Amino acid sequence: MTLDSLYRSILVEHYKHPRNFGRLAEPTHCTRQHNPLCGDHIELHLLCSVDDRIQAVKFQGRGCVISQASASMMTEAVAGKSVARARALIVSFQNLLFRSPAETELLELVVFAALQDFPSRIPCATLAWQALAVCLSTPEKKYAPPPGLKT
Ligand code: ZN
Repeated sequence: MTLDSLYRSILVEHYKHPRNFGRLAEPTHCTRQHNPLCGDHIELHLLCSVDDRIQAVKFQGRGCVISQASASMMTEAVAGKSVARARALIVSFQNLLFRSPAETELLELVVFAALQDFPSRIPCATLAWQALAVCLSTPEKKYAPPPGLKT
């Protein structure tokens, strides 16, 4: 198996078996983001504790393998982390796509570094992270989730 096909298999595996898929009953943060360039949709729910920790995270969406795999892997990366840590990961992930340093904390997310050669797909990979950034920059509230996305 080449490195390239290994990377691809990680993405396809997350696409077929997304982690933390679904919605939270009472999220403290919720957003929907859309990548019109590719038609990707993400709805992200977070439950942050009073001590600023991401207690639970769920997403649902539809779109290409890259967008959905990135969302799945993002939720795994930030679940249980502090909000400060999650913010740092957003920056690390962007650095990975637009520069080159591979931060070890990104673990298997480093597969997305391959997109440096396919800049048109970068919005697919960043969609879920953009949703996370939006959630973390909006005030906490009791959220009445909108109707679910049709998949
Ligand atoms: Zn896409």
